[in-house]
Amino acid sequence: MHIDTIVNARWIIPVQPDAAVFQRHSLAIDNGRIIDLLPTADALDRYQATSVTDLPRHALLPGLVNAHTHTAMTLLRGIADDLPLMEWLNNHIWPLEQQWMSEAFVRDGTDLAIAEMIRGGTTCFNDMYFFPEVTAQQALQHGMRASVGLILIDFPTVWTENSEQYIEKGLALHDQLRHEPLLSTPFAPHAPYTVSDQPLRRIRVIADELEVPIHMHVHETAHEIDLALEQYGQRPLQRLEKLGLLTPNFMAVHMTQIEDAEIEVFSRSGAHIVHCPESNLKLASGFCPVAKYLDAGINVALGTDGAASNNDLDMFGEMRTAALLAKGVAGDASVLPAHTALRMATLNGARALGLENEIGSLESGKSADCIAIDLQQLETQPLYDPVSQIVYAASRQQVTDVWIAGRQVLKQRQLMSIHSDDLRSRLNEWQQRLDS
Ligand SMILES: [Zn+2]
Repeated sequence: MHIDTIVNARWIIPVQPDAAVFQRHSLAIDNGRIIDLLPTADALDRYQATSVTDLPRHALLPGLVNAHTHTAMTLLRGIADDLPLMEWLNNHIWPLEQQWMSEAFVRDGTDLAIAEMIRGGTTCFNDMYFFPEVTAQQALQHGMRASVGLILIDFPTVWTENSEQYIEKGLALHDQLRHEPLLSTPFAPHAPYTVSDQPLRRIRVIADELEVPIHMHVHETAHEIDLALEQYGQRPLQRLEKLGLLTPNFMAVHMTQIEDAEIEVFSRSGAHIVHCPESNLKLASGFCPVAKYLDAGINVALGTDGAASNNDLDMFGEMRTAALLAKGVAGDASVLPAHTALRMATLNGARALGLENEIGSLESGKSADCIAIDLQQLETQPLYDPVSQIVYAASRQQVTDVWIAGRQVLKQRQLMSIHSDDLRSRLNEWQQRLDS
């Protein structure tokens, strides 16, 4: 049988079934989809492919899903560090955004983020930022998969004046992109403390009709809880539940502040949690009790958050930090083992985004979003268990090749769709502008 692509790998880690590792297997890809996963010896008999890639030193696994980003904020990487969340937002990030945010800012910041993510093995990101139409445009241009959040916040920005306009512009973008196979458009109300009841009620109704997810920062810091008790007389989760937002289409990002009774309510709702361990640590926001959430049967995905609070979009770093932090927080070294961390960074992310039938594991019928990691470098030798090496020892520099929907976007560490020199010169201009 003649097909588009065969990838022969030393190891294939499909993520589903859990903890499976296949040796000397091949992935058969046609029309952007996985059609077979089989021993390489059999693949040579069964398929002739237009393109054949041999990965004799590599593990092939599903592309990583970064379930919470503000991609354009890569331009603010390192501009204000070592500050608590509200001081960081009020005195640094929001004023800078007020001054500089524009279509060009979002275009160049998104390009940088996509380049960084592809080189780090991320094939899908779930974004929340202004000018989402520009983020969508850049993702399409570079062949990147994205959930482009339709941002909603109570205050005006250069993008939009009021919450009605945020929703209108968001809906127009949703309509425009509904047939793009690489893009989806969840609603992205910023946080309980920045979005009031009326617009939240409205998007709940629209999200139900359109069957799109809702993506929101929730219970990020203790301060947020105090503020809510003062303003609404209830904790944010309680308020969101009353507004009808806690459903299987809801993604709550951060969730560092939680009471046991709330975990039960949350678990019953079928909503998802996106854990951003490095951002929580850097902003000293608190500790997300991941082991408790997993025990309660909650789907927990992983995200980096924006590059201004991390400061990278490195899902390898995030997997490792998540695994280590969960052990420390639970006081139990057995929680969040390596294969669970990998699952959180792939299939759990896909599930949170409502894309579990499309991506997140290497299974026949799913889109061919996959990455190759060279494990024969000294840093990951000797090798007893490839998943252990990937989570606890490998770095993103070991990612050599990346495919999204069967199209190769990184080849032996070279970006196929982004011109690095041109991007570097645009970044240099931003650095001079923002530094002045
Ligand atoms: Zn965030």
